[in-house]
Amino acid sequence: NSKEIQASKIRKMFNKSLKYDKVINFTLGEPDFTASQNVVEAGCQAIMNGNTKYSENAGILPLRQEISKILLKEYEVYYNPKNEITVTVGAMGALYLTLKSILNPGDEVIICEPFWTNYLQQVKMCGGVPVLISCKEENDFMLNLQDLENAITKKTKAILLNSPNNPTGSVLNLENLKGIAQIAQKNKVIVISDEVYKGILYDDKDYSSIASLEGMKERTIVINSFSKEYAMTGWRIGYAAGPEEIIANITKLQENVSACAAMPCQYAALEALRGSQDFKKFMLNQYRQRRDRIIKRIREIPRLSCKSPKGTFYAFVNIKELGITSDEFADKLLESKQVVVVPGTAFGDGGEGYVRISYATSMEMIERGLELIEEFVREMIE
Ligand code: PMP
Repeated sequence: NSKEIQASKIRKMFNKSLKYDKVINFTLGEPDFTASQNVVEAGCQAIMNGNTKYSENAGILPLRQEISKILLKEYEVYYNPKNEITVTVGAMGALYLTLKSILNPGDEVIICEPFWTNYLQQVKMCGGVPVLISCKEENDFMLNLQDLENAITKKTKAILLNSPNNPTGSVLNLENLKGIAQIAQKNKVIVISDEVYKGILYDDKDYSSIASLEGMKERTIVINSFSKEYAMTGWRIGYAAGPEEIIANITKLQENVSACAAMPCQYAALEALRGSQDFKKFMLNQYRQRRDRIIKRIREIPRLSCKSPKGTFYAFVNIKELGITSDEFADKLLESKQVVVVPGTAFGDGGEGYVRISYATSMEMIERGLELIEEFVREMIE
Protein backbone atom coordinates (compact mmCIF):
# COMPACT_ATOMS: atom_id res chain seq x y z
CA ASN A 1 0.00 0.00 0.00
CA SER A 2 1.74 3.17 -1.19
CA LYS A 3 0.03 5.27 1.52
CA GLU A 4 2.26 3.56 4.06
CA ILE A 5 5.40 4.64 2.27
CA GLN A 6 6.89 7.69 3.91
CA ALA A 7 9.07 10.50 2.64
CA SER A 8 12.52 10.60 4.16
CA LYS A 9 13.07 12.68 7.28
CA ILE A 10 16.32 13.90 5.73
CA ARG A 11 14.28 15.60 3.01
CA LYS A 12 11.81 16.94 5.60
CA MET A 13 14.66 18.50 7.56
CA PHE A 14 16.08 20.01 4.41
CA ASN A 15 12.66 21.43 3.51
CA LYS A 16 12.31 22.99 6.95
CA SER A 17 15.61 24.77 6.38
CA LEU A 18 14.32 26.42 3.20
CA LYS A 19 12.45 29.11 5.13
CA TYR A 20 15.75 30.60 6.30
CA ASP A 21 17.86 32.79 4.05
CA LYS A 22 21.30 31.58 4.93
CA VAL A 23 21.65 28.08 6.24
CA ILE A 24 24.68 25.91 6.85
CA ASN A 25 23.63 22.61 5.46
CA PHE A 26 25.01 19.37 6.89
CA THR A 27 22.22 17.14 5.57
CA LEU A 28 23.54 16.36 2.12
CA GLY A 29 23.95 12.71 1.26
CA GLU A 30 25.96 13.28 -1.87
CA PRO A 31 29.44 14.47 -2.77
CA ASP A 32 29.82 18.23 -3.11
CA PHE A 33 32.18 17.57 -6.04
CA THR A 34 31.09 17.08 -9.63
CA ALA A 35 32.38 14.18 -11.69
CA SER A 36 35.87 14.58 -13.12
CA GLN A 37 36.44 16.18 -16.53
CA ASN A 38 37.34 12.93 -18.34
CA VAL A 39 34.09 11.34 -17.12
CA VAL A 40 31.98 14.31 -18.18
CA GLU A 41 33.71 14.32 -21.58
CA ALA A 42 33.13 10.60 -22.04
CA GLY A 43 29.42 11.13 -21.36
CA CYS A 44 29.23 14.03 -23.83
CA GLN A 45 31.25 12.08 -26.40
CA ALA A 46 28.86 9.14 -26.09
CA ILE A 47 25.99 11.49 -26.93
CA MET A 48 27.91 12.95 -29.91
CA ASN A 49 28.66 9.43 -31.12
CA GLY A 50 24.99 8.56 -31.09
CA ASN A 51 25.21 6.17 -28.15
CA THR A 52 21.81 7.42 -27.13
CA LYS A 53 19.64 4.37 -27.69
CA TYR A 54 18.43 1.65 -25.37
CA SER A 55 21.32 -0.54 -24.30
CA GLU A 56 21.03 -4.19 -23.41
CA ASN A 57 18.83 -4.47 -20.31
CA ALA A 58 21.85 -5.56 -18.27
CA GLY A 59 23.91 -2.59 -19.49
CA ILE A 60 26.66 -2.25 -22.11
CA LEU A 61 29.00 -5.22 -22.06
CA PRO A 62 32.27 -3.20 -21.82
CA LEU A 63 31.02 -1.65 -18.58
CA ARG A 64 30.08 -5.02 -17.14
CA GLN A 65 33.51 -6.33 -18.18
CA GLU A 66 35.23 -3.47 -16.43
CA ILE A 67 33.13 -3.99 -13.28
CA SER A 68 34.06 -7.67 -13.39
CA LYS A 69 37.77 -6.75 -13.48
CA ILE A 70 37.42 -4.43 -10.51
CA LEU A 71 35.56 -7.04 -8.48
CA LEU A 72 38.19 -9.63 -9.30
CA LYS A 73 40.98 -7.28 -8.28
CA GLU A 74 39.35 -5.99 -5.12
CA TYR A 75 37.40 -9.05 -3.90
CA GLU A 76 39.31 -11.85 -5.59
CA VAL A 77 35.94 -13.11 -6.80
CA TYR A 78 35.19 -13.65 -10.48
CA TYR A 79 31.80 -12.48 -11.74
CA ASN A 80 30.98 -13.40 -15.31
CA PRO A 81 30.18 -10.08 -17.04
CA LYS A 82 27.71 -11.86 -19.30
CA ASN A 83 25.35 -13.17 -16.64
CA GLU A 84 26.49 -12.30 -13.12
CA ILE A 85 26.50 -8.49 -13.33
CA THR A 86 23.70 -6.13 -14.25
CA VAL A 87 23.93 -2.34 -14.55
CA THR A 88 21.03 -0.48 -12.96
CA VAL A 89 19.60 2.99 -12.40
CA GLY A 90 21.75 3.78 -9.37
CA ALA A 91 22.26 1.48 -6.42
CA MET A 92 18.68 2.33 -5.52
CA GLY A 93 17.54 0.61 -8.69
CA ALA A 94 19.73 -2.39 -7.92
CA LEU A 95 18.44 -2.64 -4.35
CA TYR A 96 14.82 -2.33 -5.31
CA LEU A 97 14.99 -4.85 -8.14
CA THR A 98 16.95 -7.26 -5.94
CA LEU A 99 14.27 -7.13 -3.26
CA LYS A 100 11.53 -7.36 -5.85
CA SER A 101 13.24 -10.43 -7.35
CA ILE A 102 13.71 -12.39 -4.18
CA LEU A 103 10.77 -11.49 -1.93
CA ASN A 104 7.44 -13.23 -1.70
CA PRO A 105 4.71 -11.46 0.30
CA GLY A 106 5.45 -11.72 4.02
CA ASP A 107 9.12 -12.64 3.60
CA GLU A 108 11.32 -11.05 6.23
CA VAL A 109 14.40 -8.95 5.62
CA ILE A 110 16.76 -8.26 8.48
CA ILE A 111 18.02 -4.70 8.57
CA CYS A 112 20.57 -3.26 10.99
CA GLU A 113 19.40 -0.16 12.77
CA PRO A 114 20.33 2.71 12.42
CA PHE A 115 19.73 2.22 8.68
CA TRP A 116 19.59 4.20 5.50
CA THR A 117 15.93 5.24 5.40
CA ASN A 118 15.07 3.93 1.98
CA TYR A 119 15.68 0.28 2.95
CA LEU A 120 12.57 0.21 5.05
CA GLN A 121 10.37 1.70 2.37
CA GLN A 122 11.82 -0.50 -0.37
CA VAL A 123 11.28 -3.70 1.60
CA LYS A 124 7.67 -2.67 2.22
CA MET A 125 7.20 -1.70 -1.43
CA CYS A 126 8.24 -5.24 -2.35
CA GLY A 127 5.74 -6.85 0.05
CA GLY A 128 8.44 -7.80 2.53
CA VAL A 129 8.52 -7.35 6.29
CA PRO A 130 11.50 -5.43 7.72
CA VAL A 131 12.94 -6.97 10.89
CA LEU A 132 15.20 -4.55 12.71
CA ILE A 133 18.27 -5.39 14.75
CA SER A 134 19.83 -2.66 16.75
CA CYS A 135 23.55 -2.05 16.15
CA LYS A 136 25.06 -0.29 19.12
CA GLU A 137 27.87 2.21 19.40
CA GLU A 138 29.42 0.10 22.20
CA ASN A 139 29.87 -2.62 19.58
CA ASP A 140 31.22 -0.17 16.96
CA PHE A 141 27.80 -0.33 15.31
CA MET A 142 28.51 -3.87 14.19
CA LEU A 143 25.95 -6.64 14.20
CA ASN A 144 25.68 -8.64 17.38
CA LEU A 145 25.67 -12.24 16.14
CA GLN A 146 23.39 -13.49 18.89
CA ASP A 147 20.85 -10.79 17.98
CA LEU A 148 21.10 -11.92 14.39
CA GLU A 149 20.52 -15.57 15.29
CA ASN A 150 17.54 -14.54 17.41
CA ALA A 151 16.01 -12.50 14.60
CA ILE A 152 16.04 -15.37 12.10
CA THR A 153 12.73 -17.13 11.55
CA LYS A 154 11.39 -19.51 8.91
CA LYS A 155 10.32 -16.45 6.95
CA THR A 156 13.74 -14.77 6.85
CA LYS A 157 14.72 -14.33 3.23
CA ALA A 158 17.59 -11.89 3.41
CA ILE A 159 19.96 -9.85 5.54
CA LEU A 160 20.71 -6.37 4.31
CA LEU A 161 24.20 -5.14 5.14
CA ASN A 162 25.61 -1.69 4.56
CA SER A 163 29.33 -1.29 5.10
CA PRO A 164 30.77 1.35 5.13
CA ASN A 165 27.60 2.46 6.80
CA ASN A 166 25.30 5.37 6.28
CA PRO A 167 24.71 6.97 8.83
CA THR A 168 27.26 5.60 11.34
CA GLY A 169 30.42 5.56 9.18
CA SER A 170 31.26 2.16 10.65
CA VAL A 171 32.77 -0.74 8.74
CA LEU A 172 32.01 -4.40 9.46
CA ASN A 173 35.24 -6.17 10.32
CA LEU A 174 36.27 -9.57 8.98
CA GLU A 175 35.39 -11.42 12.16
CA ASN A 176 31.88 -9.96 12.21
CA LEU A 177 31.42 -10.76 8.51
CA LYS A 178 32.55 -14.34 9.05
CA GLY A 179 29.97 -14.76 11.81
CA ILE A 180 27.22 -13.28 9.62
CA ALA A 181 28.28 -15.52 6.72
CA GLN A 182 28.07 -18.62 8.89
CA ILE A 183 24.58 -17.73 10.08
CA ALA A 184 23.45 -16.92 6.52
CA GLN A 185 24.72 -20.27 5.25
CA LYS A 186 23.29 -22.28 8.10
CA ASN A 187 19.86 -20.71 7.61
CA LYS A 188 20.02 -20.48 3.80
CA VAL A 189 19.52 -16.75 3.85
CA ILE A 190 20.54 -14.35 1.08
CA VAL A 191 22.85 -11.44 1.92
CA ILE A 192 22.34 -8.12 0.18
CA SER A 193 25.54 -6.17 0.62
CA ASP A 194 25.19 -2.46 -0.08
CA GLU A 195 28.74 -1.27 -0.64
CA VAL A 196 28.12 2.13 -2.21
CA TYR A 197 30.56 3.82 0.18
CA LYS A 198 33.36 1.36 -0.43
CA GLY A 199 35.14 4.00 -2.51
CA ILE A 200 35.15 6.34 0.49
CA LEU A 201 37.10 4.24 2.90
CA TYR A 202 39.92 5.78 4.90
CA ASP A 203 41.96 2.64 5.37
CA ASP A 204 41.71 -0.28 2.93
CA LYS A 205 42.88 -2.66 5.65
CA ASP A 206 39.58 -2.17 7.47
CA TYR A 207 37.50 -3.54 4.65
CA SER A 208 36.32 -6.90 3.39
CA SER A 209 33.27 -7.78 1.38
CA ILE A 210 31.15 -10.65 2.60
CA ALA A 211 31.04 -11.85 -1.02
CA SER A 212 34.75 -12.75 -0.76
CA LEU A 213 34.19 -15.26 2.02
CA GLU A 214 34.09 -18.98 1.34
CA GLY A 215 30.69 -20.09 0.05
CA MET A 216 29.24 -16.59 0.03
CA LYS A 217 29.36 -15.59 -3.63
CA GLU A 218 26.50 -18.05 -4.16
CA ARG A 219 24.23 -16.26 -1.72
CA THR A 220 25.33 -12.62 -1.85
CA ILE A 221 24.17 -9.79 -4.05
CA VAL A 222 26.76 -7.04 -4.08
CA ILE A 223 25.23 -3.63 -4.69
CA ASN A 224 27.44 -0.77 -5.75
CA SER A 225 27.25 2.50 -7.57
CA PHE A 226 29.23 5.35 -9.12
CA SER A 227 27.32 7.95 -7.11
CA LYS A 228 29.63 8.39 -4.14
CA GLU A 229 32.95 6.98 -5.31
CA TYR A 230 33.00 9.03 -8.53
CA ALA A 231 30.71 11.89 -7.47
CA MET A 232 28.14 10.85 -10.07
CA THR A 233 24.86 10.89 -8.14
CA GLY A 234 22.82 12.48 -10.92
CA TRP A 235 24.16 10.14 -13.60
CA ARG A 236 22.23 7.32 -11.93
CA ILE A 237 24.50 4.35 -12.58
CA GLY A 238 24.76 1.45 -10.18
CA TYR A 239 25.03 -2.30 -10.42
CA ALA A 240 24.28 -5.64 -8.83
CA ALA A 241 26.65 -8.62 -8.95
CA GLY A 242 25.64 -12.06 -7.75
CA PRO A 243 24.32 -15.50 -8.64
CA GLU A 244 23.23 -15.91 -12.24
CA GLU A 245 19.59 -16.71 -11.46
CA ILE A 246 18.99 -13.62 -9.33
CA ILE A 247 20.87 -11.37 -11.75
CA ALA A 248 18.73 -12.72 -14.61
CA ASN A 249 15.60 -11.90 -12.61
CA ILE A 250 16.79 -8.39 -11.79
CA THR A 251 17.54 -7.80 -15.47
CA LYS A 252 14.14 -9.13 -16.48
CA LEU A 253 12.39 -6.83 -14.01
CA GLN A 254 14.51 -3.90 -15.16
CA GLU A 255 13.34 -4.53 -18.71
CA ASN A 256 9.83 -3.86 -17.45
CA VAL A 257 10.60 -0.84 -15.31
CA SER A 258 13.26 1.35 -16.90
CA ALA A 259 14.56 -0.88 -19.75
CA CYS A 260 18.14 0.04 -18.89
CA ALA A 261 20.27 2.72 -17.28
CA ALA A 262 20.83 5.77 -19.51
CA MET A 263 23.32 4.76 -22.19
CA PRO A 264 25.54 7.88 -22.32
CA CYS A 265 25.86 7.68 -18.53
CA GLN A 266 27.01 4.08 -18.84
CA TYR A 267 29.84 5.26 -21.12
CA ALA A 268 30.74 7.91 -18.57
CA ALA A 269 30.83 5.22 -15.86
CA LEU A 270 33.07 3.11 -18.08
CA GLU A 271 35.51 6.00 -18.30
CA ALA A 272 35.31 6.44 -14.52
CA LEU A 273 36.65 2.89 -14.11
CA ARG A 274 39.10 2.87 -17.01
CA GLY A 275 40.48 6.39 -16.76
CA SER A 276 42.79 8.02 -14.25
CA GLN A 277 41.85 7.49 -10.60
CA ASP A 278 43.55 10.72 -9.51
CA PHE A 279 40.31 12.62 -8.96
CA LYS A 280 38.95 9.85 -6.77
CA LYS A 281 42.13 9.98 -4.69
CA PHE A 282 41.85 13.75 -4.49
CA MET A 283 38.27 13.55 -3.21
CA LEU A 284 39.14 10.88 -0.68
CA ASN A 285 41.95 13.04 0.60
CA GLN A 286 39.62 16.00 0.96
CA TYR A 287 37.09 13.89 2.85
CA ARG A 288 39.85 12.63 5.12
CA GLN A 289 41.02 16.13 5.99
CA ARG A 290 37.44 17.21 6.67
CA ARG A 291 36.78 14.14 8.77
CA ASP A 292 39.84 14.73 10.92
CA ARG A 293 38.91 18.36 11.41
CA ILE A 294 35.26 17.75 12.17
CA ILE A 295 35.95 14.96 14.66
CA LYS A 296 38.52 17.09 16.44
CA ARG A 297 36.06 19.98 16.67
CA ILE A 298 33.16 17.81 17.87
CA ARG A 299 35.36 16.40 20.60
CA GLU A 300 36.11 19.94 21.78
CA ILE A 301 32.40 20.57 22.38
CA PRO A 302 31.22 19.61 25.86
CA ARG A 303 28.81 16.64 26.10
CA LEU A 304 29.16 15.65 22.47
CA SER A 305 31.13 12.66 21.34
CA CYS A 306 31.73 10.95 18.05
CA LYS A 307 33.54 7.88 16.79
CA SER A 308 35.80 8.65 13.88
CA PRO A 309 34.06 7.26 10.78
CA LYS A 310 36.06 4.59 8.95
CA GLY A 311 34.28 5.30 5.71
CA THR A 312 31.56 7.56 4.15
CA PHE A 313 31.35 11.31 4.68
CA TYR A 314 29.13 11.25 7.75
CA ALA A 315 29.86 11.94 11.40
CA PHE A 316 27.27 10.30 13.66
CA VAL A 317 27.41 12.47 16.74
CA ASN A 318 26.30 11.21 20.14
CA ILE A 319 24.23 13.92 21.87
CA LYS A 320 22.80 11.74 24.65
CA GLU A 321 24.46 13.70 27.44
CA LEU A 322 22.52 16.81 26.51
CA GLY A 323 19.28 15.22 27.69
CA ILE A 324 17.21 16.28 24.68
CA THR A 325 15.97 14.19 21.77
CA SER A 326 17.73 14.23 18.45
CA ASP A 327 14.66 15.82 16.83
CA GLU A 328 14.71 18.61 19.40
CA PHE A 329 18.42 19.10 18.86
CA ALA A 330 18.01 19.36 15.10
CA ASP A 331 14.97 21.68 15.26
CA LYS A 332 16.43 24.01 17.88
CA LEU A 333 19.81 24.16 16.17
CA LEU A 334 18.11 25.16 12.94
CA GLU A 335 15.90 27.77 14.62
CA SER A 336 18.60 29.38 16.72
CA LYS A 337 21.72 29.03 14.58
CA GLN A 338 20.49 28.18 11.08
CA VAL A 339 22.57 25.05 10.96
CA VAL A 340 20.79 22.00 9.67
CA VAL A 341 21.71 18.42 10.65
CA VAL A 342 19.73 15.19 10.39
CA PRO A 343 18.20 13.80 13.60
CA GLY A 344 19.27 10.21 14.21
CA THR A 345 15.65 9.09 14.24
CA ALA A 346 15.62 9.59 10.47
CA PHE A 347 17.50 6.27 10.50
CA GLY A 348 15.06 4.41 12.73
CA ASP A 349 14.26 4.62 16.44
CA GLY A 350 17.71 3.19 17.16
CA GLY A 351 19.18 6.47 15.91
CA GLU A 352 17.73 8.35 18.88
CA GLY A 353 20.47 10.15 20.77
CA TYR A 354 22.49 10.94 17.65
CA VAL A 355 22.56 13.47 14.84
CA ARG A 356 24.18 12.94 11.46
CA ILE A 357 26.50 15.60 10.10
CA SER A 358 27.46 15.20 6.47
CA TYR A 359 30.88 16.61 5.65
CA ALA A 360 30.31 16.55 1.93
CA THR A 361 30.67 20.29 2.15
CA SER A 362 33.50 22.82 2.18
CA MET A 363 36.00 23.23 4.99
CA GLU A 364 34.74 26.79 5.40
CA MET A 365 31.20 25.54 6.09
CA ILE A 366 32.57 22.94 8.48
CA GLU A 367 34.50 25.57 10.47
CA ARG A 368 31.58 27.98 10.67
CA GLY A 369 28.98 25.28 11.27
CA LEU A 370 30.93 23.68 14.10
CA GLU A 371 31.50 27.08 15.71
CA LEU A 372 27.73 27.60 15.72
CA ILE A 373 27.07 24.10 17.05
CA GLU A 374 29.54 24.78 19.84
CA GLU A 375 27.80 28.08 20.67
CA PHE A 376 24.44 26.29 20.63
CA VAL A 377 25.56 23.59 23.03
CA ARG A 378 27.34 25.99 25.39
CA GLU A 379 24.30 28.27 25.55
CA MET A 380 22.15 25.27 26.39
CA ILE A 381 24.28 23.98 29.24
CA GLU A 382 25.83 27.12 30.71
N1 PMP B 1 22.78 2.98 -0.34
C1 PMP B 1 23.13 3.89 0.58
C2 PMP B 1 23.56 3.42 1.92
C3 PMP B 1 23.07 5.25 0.28
O1 PMP B 1 23.42 6.16 1.21
C4 PMP B 1 22.65 5.67 -1.01
C5 PMP B 1 22.56 7.11 -1.41
N2 PMP B 1 22.34 8.04 -0.43
C6 PMP B 1 22.31 4.68 -1.94
C7 PMP B 1 22.39 3.35 -1.57
C8 PMP B 1 21.81 5.02 -3.31
O2 PMP B 1 22.82 5.31 -4.21
P1 PMP B 1 22.55 5.60 -5.73
O3 PMP B 1 22.73 7.08 -5.94
O4 PMP B 1 23.58 4.82 -6.47
O5 PMP B 1 21.18 5.17 -6.07
